[in-house]
Formats: sequence, structure tokens, C-alpha cells
Amino acid sequence: MSSDVLGRIEKLREQLDQYNYEYYVLDNPTVLDATYDELMKELIDLEEKYPEYKTDTSPTVRVGGQALDVFEKVIHKIPMLSLGNAFGEADLKDFDRKIRQITNKEVAYVAELKIDGLAVSLHYENGNFTQGATRGDGSVGEDITHNLKTIKSIPLRLKQPATIEVRGEAFMAKSTLEKLNQEREAKGEVLLANPRNAAAGSLRQLDPKIASKRGLDFYSYAVSDAESLGFKTHSDSLNYLDELGFKTNSERLVCNGIHEVINFVSTWQEKRSSLPYEIDGIVIKVDSLELQKELGFTAKSPRWAIAYKFPAEEVSTKIIDIELSVGRTGVVTPTAILEPVKVAGTIVRRATLHNEDIIKGKDLRIGDNVVIRKAGDIIPEVVKVQLDKRTGEEKPFAMPTNCPECDSDLERIQGEVALRCANSSCPAQIREGLIHFVSRNAMNIEGLGEKVVEQLFAEGLIHRISDIYALKAEQLLPLERMGDKSVQNLLKSIETSKTNSLEKLLFGLGIRHVGAKAAKTLAQSFNTIDDLMSASADSILLIPEIGDKMAESIHDYFENEESQKLIHNLKHYGVNTVYLGAKKSEVSTESLFIGKTIVLTGTLSKLGRKEATEKIEELGGKVTGSVSKKTDLLIAGEEAGSKLDKAHQLGIEIWDEDRLLQELED
Ligand code: NAD
Repeated sequence: MSSDVLGRIEKLREQLDQYNYEYYVLDNPTVLDATYDELMKELIDLEEKYPEYKTDTSPTVRVGGQALDVFEKVIHKIPMLSLGNAFGEADLKDFDRKIRQITNKEVAYVAELKIDGLAVSLHYENGNFTQGATRGDGSVGEDITHNLKTIKSIPLRLKQPATIEVRGEAFMAKSTLEKLNQEREAKGEVLLANPRNAAAGSLRQLDPKIASKRGLDFYSYAVSDAESLGFKTHSDSLNYLDELGFKTNSERLVCNGIHEVINFVSTWQEKRSSLPYEIDGIVIKVDSLELQKELGFTAKSPRWAIAYKFPAEEVSTKIIDIELSVGRTGVVTPTAILEPVKVAGTIVRRATLHNEDIIKGKDLRIGDNVVIRKAGDIIPEVVKVQLDKRTGEEKPFAMPTNCPECDSDLERIQGEVALRCANSSCPAQIREGLIHFVSRNAMNIEGLGEKVVEQLFAEGLIHRISDIYALKAEQLLPLERMGDKSVQNLLKSIETSKTNSLEKLLFGLGIRHVGAKAAKTLAQSFNTIDDLMSASADSILLIPEIGDKMAESIHDYFENEESQKLIHNLKHYGVNTVYLGAKKSEVSTESLFIGKTIVLTGTLSKLGRKEATEKIEELGGKVTGSVSKKTDLLIAGEEAGSKLDKAHQLGIEIWDEDRLLQELED
């Protein structure tokens, strides 16, 4: 049981770390906030229930961002923290109950709209704007002064000569985001997922011209250390911001007791769509600064504030049709074609129905009125049918018995719900396999997006993967939207992909059950594709992390004559088939880190924790969360605290970040 729990906890941490990275570092989330919040809640609950598994590197105790090296770093003297979440009335009452345990009387709260943007800190000296920064990991942010100066609602000079740090939210209005996305769509660029990422993506640029064109706006919502400036309440400090010439949000309310807060929350839940900017909830803060001080902070958030998160938006629409598509492994997936409807900021026209069981389970019919939402993924889903709106005209749907692309028989593989086209020469499977081969985590051939691959395939210019390497400029030039420059660039990126390390190729081949991580393990263990091809299923199985199913599937793949011909052709075109990263065997003999248990603490401002952990693990070390007798080495970054003291007490070897960098280089 406990190993199951630990497994789940580790899985959640890994997932949330990845989502944090995509959201805060890349400004490009792959899941909805509501999904992220659900997973985070599950992890918090598990860590509460099993405190023995708590670590101080868990995403539950760390502010999610990370400062990028291209920016100057700014240390936040007062940390910029995250906020605890409330998902319903009960959570709000619970928050209030804990506070009233201290005060024993009704508490005054300030309720503010939670604008979906990017938290920013602004420094003023004698009334002049001197520096602005992102939150980063809460302790170290990025200096983005040059970009913030382009936002008109951030005053460059205050109405009084104040020396002050102000915090607030930089954001993009709905209409601006919509316009920007229309322009991006016209240029074939990836759309910005939400206003937060649009604002972050605009401000975390080196060239201020980009930010100046993005039409960003700013609301200030806090004075840092307001008590030392003589204020008694948060609401007074907000009024002072107005006096200084800042833009604050007037839709705030000082509430007497949590019941007034709950009313405010439900009013805005109804009215949120009427605002010209997106809000994702309501922030509730204790008004008295003295009480705030008494309540204090956890490592991640203040105890005197909470963010009420609105639930994922649900809307109704109609299923006009159900379409089928065949994926790279032959799985046939039904998709609902919907009457276009706006959900959480974007127009939705399709929703995946996954498989026949889901259609049957929800009793979905063509013509049904349904409720949809964007939860579980960025891809919308059908929640339920509105049975009371049925007219009797709706048509039940049944999956076909033959492949919609090549008419071969469909099979239901034992133990799986999905139906699969058994014909390995099915054109849909080949086309999807090509799209997978060129995709980012595989061979990463820029300029060869889905649409271009589809065109090349339809024109008969590529059929097998290896055909990509035989493409010539004169074949590409007549294609739609292909000019001289784009053809040159495309040929260049095809050429560059030949030098990829083996794991990218292995993942790109699309061998069933082999994901990106397994591809890396295989490449590290076998080093060349020839060695992997000649390995028996039993010897593949000897590798940790590779299970029965995968070993068999790899062995079968390379036994197949077609696969062998493909590898032969790829080699003929000069595609690298050797692993180019750090090898496990090299690690075991030469690395200083091998078998060592290492703890990281404080701010690693050059390397960052994530990268340091990855590098140490690559070199055979194990990174853990807390210092104990078993710890071999402590890496202490800036402002290291109790772990450093403990390591001293236990006589553990201690390095600073520079020493770590030096040893990693060696
Ligand atoms: P948060 O968004 O829950 O709350 C803190 C933030 O609220 C502040 O940093 C500030 O930017 C903002 N804010 C807006 N108005 C405010 C006001 N009036 N007063 C104070 N703050 C105000 O916390 P977070 O740590 O910034 O982000 C966590 C959230 O981000 C998650 O709950 C999730 O919804 C989202 N997230 C999503 C993904 C993803 O992959 N989709 C990944 C990471 C985080």
C-alpha cells in the first residue's frame, strides 16, 4: 500500500514539475489550470495524510517559476509568494475559521478580482521607476524593466517622491489577445493559450519593441511592507497607490466577515464574462496588517490570503456529426463535430470522444444537445447529454467494422477498448507516423509541420520516413506557401536532423510502447541502433525500466524486414544511429557523483535546481530532499538556511554552486 502511495506521490510531483516548467519557463502550458489545480490538490492531500513522504523540494512547497539566464537576476528582499487555493464555500469558511481561532472575532477581508496575468514587482526611488522584475521562483526574479517601461499604465514618475516597492499584475485584455491570436493564426503561428501566457511571453523578451506592440495593461494590488510605511490596513495602502498615480482595480470590496466574501465571489462568478479582461478567481486578503503579520507565511504562501478559483466553465452546444480519424498506431478515434461555441476564451468546434465505450456510456447521439468544458486537457470534452432537450430526431452512433481510410477490418485488441486498423500499410497510419517522426520530441524538423507533411504525402513526395531525406528543392517549390527561403530553411533543418542523437530517432520510429523516456534509456544502454537491432527480447528486458511488452514490441519491430530496410535507407542518407549523450558505462567508472546522495539547498542562481538535479542524476548521483546521516554532499546556494546548519553539524561535505559547476564541467 505505502509503495503505491509513494509511487503516486512521485508521479504527481514529476507531472507537476513538468507542468510548472511548461507554464512558467516556456510560457506554454499543455494542460488546463483546472487540471493542474486538481493534481496539486491530490498531492497536497496525500502529503497531509502521509507526512513521512513530505520533502522540501515538492511542488507543494515551492513557488513554481524559475528565472531564465538571459535576464539579469533580481533578488526579492521580501519573497514574492504564491497563494493557497479555495475551490468552494467550504474552503473559504475553513480559511476564515483558522484565522478566527487567533482573533476570536469577525475578520475584515479585502476581496479583489484575480486577474489572469503575470505578477510583477516594481521599485521606485524618490518617485522614479528604477526596476521591475518577474516573480521567478519567489526569491529570484528576472529584470524586465525595459519591457515594463512600455506599459502605459505603469507610471514612470509618481505623484509623490516615494521610495517604495509595489506589486501587481501585468495582463492582456481579452480583445487584445483575440486580435493577436487572429494575426498569429493568419501567419500560421501557434496561438497563445491564455492571457497569462500572452502577458508572460510578451514581457519575457529581450527586445522591448515586442512588449510595446502587445498592448499590455497593469493593475497594482499591493505595497510591499506597507506596515513600515505607517499603514494599518491593506485597503488603506491600496488607496495610497491610487494617490501615487497607480492604476488599481476599483472592483474591490472590504468585507465584514466571510459571508460578505462569499457573496462577492458568487456575484463575480456570474458576472466575470462581462469584464474586458479574464479573471480566474477572487483573491481574499486579511485587511489588518497587524493580523497579517501575526498569521505569517508558509514556505509557499501567506496564511492571511487565499485565492478562490472559479470552476472550469461549462457551456452547452450541439453535436452536428461524429467523425473518425486513424492514428499512427491504427487506433480509430471518434470526434464530435460541434456547433461552434466559446469556452474559456476560445471557440470550440470539435471534442474528442476517445472511443466507443465513452460514446455508449454517455449515450451520445448525433444531434444531441450537450454540455462541454475544457477540462482534463486543453482539448475540450463532452461532459453530458442534455436529455430533456431530446426531440427523437437524434441518431445513435455505431463504430464501423472497417477502417474509414483503407477499408481493412478493424480489430479490438484484447484488454483494450480501442478499435485498431490492422493494415500496417494503411495510408492514415503512414501519414501520422511521418508527422510523429518530424515532431519536436522526435527528430524535431522545423518547417515540416503537420500541414506540410500532409501535402507532401498527398502529392506522393514522401511515403516512407526515409523519403524525407531524399527531398529536393525543385519538388518543394511548387507546394502551397513554399518560397525560396522556406524551402532552403526546410532542407537545412532536414540536414541538421541527421546529426540527432540516437534516442530522437528511436522515439521517432514510433515503435509501439516506446515513449521518449524509454528511447533515451535504450539509446544509453545499447549505444548504437545495430546493437539494439541484434539484441534478443530477453536481453532488452534486462534493462531496468523496460518491461515485457515493450521488450517484445522492440524485438518484433526490428525483426520485421520493412523496418530493417528503413534503417538501412536512413543510414544510407547519413542519418546518425549512435547515441551522443553521456553513457551509463562512462558514468559508472569516472563520475565523482556516482552513488552519492546529494541535497541541494538555497538559490542556485547560475544553474537552477532543476538543471542541477538533472546533471547530477545524469552523472549517477541521487538528489534527495532532506539532510540526514545518509547525505554524502550538500550543495549550498545563496541564502542557504537550516539544511546548511544541519550539514555542518553532521560533518557533511559542502560545496557552493561554483564548485558544483566546476566539478560538473570536469
Ligand atoms: P495563483 O495563480 O494561484 O496565485 C498567485 C498569483 O495571483 C499572484 O502571483 C498574482 O500573479 C495573481 N494575482 C492576481 N490578482 C491578484 C491580486 N489582486 N492580489 C494578489 N495576487 C493576485 O498562484 P501561482 O503560484 O501564480 O500559480 C499557480 C496557478 O497557476 C495554479 O493554481 C494553476 O492554476 C496555474 N498553473 C497552471 C499550470 C498549467 O500547466 N496549466 C502550471 C502551473 C501553474
